[in-house]
Amino acid sequence: MAEYKLLTQHIGADGLQTRAGYERLGGYQGLREVFRRFTPEQFIEQVKLSGLRGRGGAGFPTGTKWSFLPKDVFPRYLCCNADESEPACFKDRYLIDENPHQLIEGVLIAAYALQVHHAFIYIRGEYHDQRLLLERCVEEAGGAGYIGRNILGSGFDCEVIVHGGAGAYICGEETALIDSLEGYRGQPRLKPPFPALKGLYGKPTVVNNVETLSNLPHIVLRGGDWFKGIGTERSTGTRVWCVSGHIERPGCYEMENGRPIRELLEEEAGGVWQGRRLKAFQPGGGSMQVLLPEHLDLPLDMDAVMKAGSSLGAGAMMFMDETTCMVNVSMRLVDFYHHESCGKCVPCREGTYFESDLMHRLEAGTCKPEELATLSDICDNMNGKCFCPLGDTATWFVMSAYQAFREEFEAHCGAGGCPVRGGARTAALVGAS
Ligand code: SF4
Repeated sequence: MAEYKLLTQHIGADGLQTRAGYERLGGYQGLREVFRRFTPEQFIEQVKLSGLRGRGGAGFPTGTKWSFLPKDVFPRYLCCNADESEPACFKDRYLIDENPHQLIEGVLIAAYALQVHHAFIYIRGEYHDQRLLLERCVEEAGGAGYIGRNILGSGFDCEVIVHGGAGAYICGEETALIDSLEGYRGQPRLKPPFPALKGLYGKPTVVNNVETLSNLPHIVLRGGDWFKGIGTERSTGTRVWCVSGHIERPGCYEMENGRPIRELLEEEAGGVWQGRRLKAFQPGGGSMQVLLPEHLDLPLDMDAVMKAGSSLGAGAMMFMDETTCMVNVSMRLVDFYHHESCGKCVPCREGTYFESDLMHRLEAGTCKPEELATLSDICDNMNGKCFCPLGDTATWFVMSAYQAFREEFEAHCGAGGCPVRGGARTAALVGAS
């Protein structure tokens, strides 16, 4: 399989974070070309042809999402979702830090295709430096005629607004993002109506992820058909993987879809650290189900990983070595979702509280064996019964870990401490009552 680097191909080049540096490497040619070669409708067809699927987690086909906008309803809005908050996910930050103009060019190309005159980049509160960088780049791009009135003489007008969030994980959910952008407390909205019909300010709205939009200049320049030729039939193009955990070289690595997960681990990330064996991994960020060493030969293909019982999600691979306690990892992830639950619906608000309480007692070795059934009950009462996906995903890792490492969960019951990580000392560390 050929080696492709698209989004990261120029990373490290001098001055790439400036407009002039980006232009020296062919930057903003995609924007010029989209005006010259395509009507908005034609470019939407190119994106459909490319097979590009959203890189934010759900993997929905981008061109199809765009075509849901009702014809002739204006104004309409584009929101770039830079609220990257998934545990272990940091590729959007990397793409913004290293090649911010590529994202801005992608935003403008999408805005043209959708005939949007106000595009927003909603960036998470913790990405303060990246927000400042984007604001500077938007100003630079505007100064060169890429943003504003009559862009490059095309007759198309578009303003780009960078908006900082306040640090809530839930604002990565598109309707919560829209609520937050409108100035309300960020909480998910009831769907339908979907944002394509009634989104920002009650108008048709598309929400696309940073990495998704960063692909667009490449699709303009080389065509949807070329893009479709990279990767697998239903997972086209490349992805920028965030690789973390017990590995030799944590970082972001771009690889074409379809290559085995093992290559990402062993060739790019240097393998499991300190010569240890792999115990488990999470292929798509903190929300996704655990996979085992036997799954390493699965291809980086959304459907193949889904068939194996997990998901590539937002593109964050977290590897865990043989010394890892799966109860401890589950407890930490459950704590995250308990903290981030927005409180709007009962199953998630109460469920994450009880889940977290039980996981702390389990890790401390003070749970009774019969309480493991209670853990399953809590998760059953959350999964598929919450208002938005946060409540579901708060159960996925813990339930998959319980299935795959049942003996480890059982060994914690009444053990007086974590039997994997070191006995009674752990009880104090995890704050068990
Ligand atoms: Fe809020 Fe959780 Fe309900 Fe989603 S599932 S609306 S995050 S309480």
